[in-house]
Amino acid sequence: MSRVAVVTGGSKGIGAAIVRRLAKNNMNIVINYLNSKDAAEKLKSEIISKGCFTGEIELYKADVSIEEEASGLLNFAGTKFGTIDVLINNAGVSNGGPLFMKDLTDWWKTIQVNLGSTVNCTRASIPYFLKNGSGNIINIGSVAGLTGVLGNSDYASSKAALVGFTKSMARELVNHKITINTVAPGFIATDMVERMNPKRKKDLLAKIPAGRIGSASEVAELVSLLASGSVNYILGQTIVIDGGVSM
Ligand code: NAP
Repeated sequence: MSRVAVVTGGSKGIGAAIVRRLAKNNMNIVINYLNSKDAAEKLKSEIISKGCFTGEIELYKADVSIEEEASGLLNFAGTKFGTIDVLINNAGVSNGGPLFMKDLTDWWKTIQVNLGSTVNCTRASIPYFLKNGSGNIINIGSVAGLTGVLGNSDYASSKAALVGFTKSMARELVNHKITINTVAPGFIATDMVERMNPKRKKDLLAKIPAGRIGSASEVAELVSLLASGSVNYILGQTIVIDGGVSM
């Protein structure tokens, strides 16, 4: 039987690349979106039109930073497919701005989306994994959480918190054969990086030993391995994929 995956923020960027990669494994996938409904529908059509996909794809709108909506997403997936095997906590935002110039409501909003969504969805997934006797949770963190980042303290703090959350939850869940890890990308070509000011982007590029921005498909390849259920000895880790930026 096909494995079942839920991908938050799965309609574009890294999330969409993960969906495409899991679809290659013919997994049943629930793509969560918030604003990008058209992109989600287009992605679904793209995968189905290839003709070789034997899984099923469902779309589900939810603001996963809100507990009830995150639960709604996981309950939808569990009811539709009868089980959940994989949760990818990918939804995230990055708005930037020095702390002293930033509205603190916006600062905490980043934490609520980037950390809160992961907490909400992880919590709501646990009953399904317990019922299954297994499960793989993959959080999308960032090297920003390991190195800090100039002018983006809310983003870096949210991603740093994921490191501790991942280690703690790995200990909490290991006896139930549930794994949880974080994948921490560096600069990856998506809208999030596109929105950066060009001067800042150029400066950042100069700091990447690999000499290039990474691709979402490279991140998706790593996520797919962790989602396969075949490397369950990897536990509580933050695995960096950043062209050497954080060396
Ligand atoms: P992106 O293209 O801007 O995509 C962000 C995704 O998050 C969108 O699909 C968006 O959904 C979703 N999202 C945001 N808030 C949400 C909410 N409250 N509920 C549900 N979905 C929500 O950015 P990306 O680069 O692919 O980022 C994906 C993840 O990778 C993020 O966690 C980000 O921090 C991380 N990351 C990115 C980079 C990079 O260089 N790009 C580097 C390190 C880490 P809608 O569009 O439907 O609203």
